[in-house]
Amino acid sequence: MPNILFTNVRILDASGQQPFTGEVLVQGNRIQRVGRGLRTLPTAGVTVIDGAGATLMPGMCEAHTHFGWTNSKTLDAIQKLPHEEHTLWAASVAKLYLDYGWTSCVGAATPKPRLDCVIRNAIESGQIPGPRYLAASQEITVTGSLGDDMLPHLPFPEMSFGTVVDGAEDMRKAVRMFLKYGVDTIKLNLSGDNLVPGADATTNWMSDEEVAIAVKEAKVRGKRVSCHARSTGSIKQSMRHGLDIVYHASFADEEALDMLEAAKDRIFVAPGISVIIRLLYEGEVVGIDNSQAKRMGYERELEAAVNSMKAMLKRGIRVLPGGDYGFAWAPHGENAKDLEYFVKYLGMTPMETIISCTRWGGQMMMKGGELGEIKEGYLADLLLVDGDPLSNISILQNRDKLLAIMKDGAFHKMPEVGAAQRFARSVA
Ligand SMILES: [Zn+2]
Repeated sequence: MPNILFTNVRILDASGQQPFTGEVLVQGNRIQRVGRGLRTLPTAGVTVIDGAGATLMPGMCEAHTHFGWTNSKTLDAIQKLPHEEHTLWAASVAKLYLDYGWTSCVGAATPKPRLDCVIRNAIESGQIPGPRYLAASQEITVTGSLGDDMLPHLPFPEMSFGTVVDGAEDMRKAVRMFLKYGVDTIKLNLSGDNLVPGADATTNWMSDEEVAIAVKEAKVRGKRVSCHARSTGSIKQSMRHGLDIVYHASFADEEALDMLEAAKDRIFVAPGISVIIRLLYEGEVVGIDNSQAKRMGYERELEAAVNSMKAMLKRGIRVLPGGDYGFAWAPHGENAKDLEYFVKYLGMTPMETIISCTRWGGQMMMKGGELGEIKEGYLADLLLVDGDPLSNISILQNRDKLLAIMKDGAFHKMPEVGAAQRFARSVA
């Protein structure tokens, strides 16, 4: 791997400081030097990339990813795809995330038991291109809740989107099975979801006994536990049991916020607000108009989620973008829309939003201190962006604006000769 010098770039390093003109030297898979100004770093024996003023920022982290979701309208349709096609599909989706600048993804549940682990291993061995990836279990759920899709007359577990358990021993067995397959994260569905009739987002489903045994088994193997927790009760339950990643967390009351804050140095929250926003305002694509979406509770949930996230950010809790892309209403690849939502709905500045998907992302990937910033010694996951994401966060939705994508010191997308120069002309 030749050493690479990015020169004449505007460095947005995700430390929080304003961008500055400088140079970045990559040696092997790490950032060796960061220089301020031009021609400060040696060029002998290195490949020089002249960014012509383009922005160099860390690669992004998607905090709630489902490579196995198939851009379908229903959970059922995802589940019915046979294993062989499903594996090929997930491999193509993994590449797509990297194409869009997501150099890290945190798996949030897989529709087939081993799918996430197989994809992660194939990426790590170089068999397929993809982001750094933490593999998840299937959603573990209980009878009647989100993910139990068995029909009364067809009670076959394979038909179910999640793994259905009832009672502590069922749970222990399920968790141990996923640990055997090699997951990084166990996923529990603690609350319901407005998509499920009779199990809406405000309802609670799993017993304390079931959650406790899942956490105990995962921690014995040093693994993290994440949860689908929209309701007030489920957020509190997740904190009582020491879960690490809280997805959604829409209905957080004061007590829940206090509990989250007490664990803020350990936990991560990812609201996955696109599901709510898209179904509320753009649900026609799957036959859900605005009035139906309101009846399903999405207006109420959006208001609650926005208030909850704002309160969490004030308390210093790490709230990250990404989540539940891969449905017909929000297909894979559109994930950077979340950055725009964070600015528009949560009132974060573009700088704060970028820090959340880079520096906090590195921490969520369990590589805090070596991933997610442009800093000497850090892993070289870098994006060369045609434009300024701080003045227009939505440019990160456009893959054509990503002139170069580097993961672990290697180019996934090489800068085209002249691409950076074109940028220089367009801003002149
Ligand atoms: Zn999800």
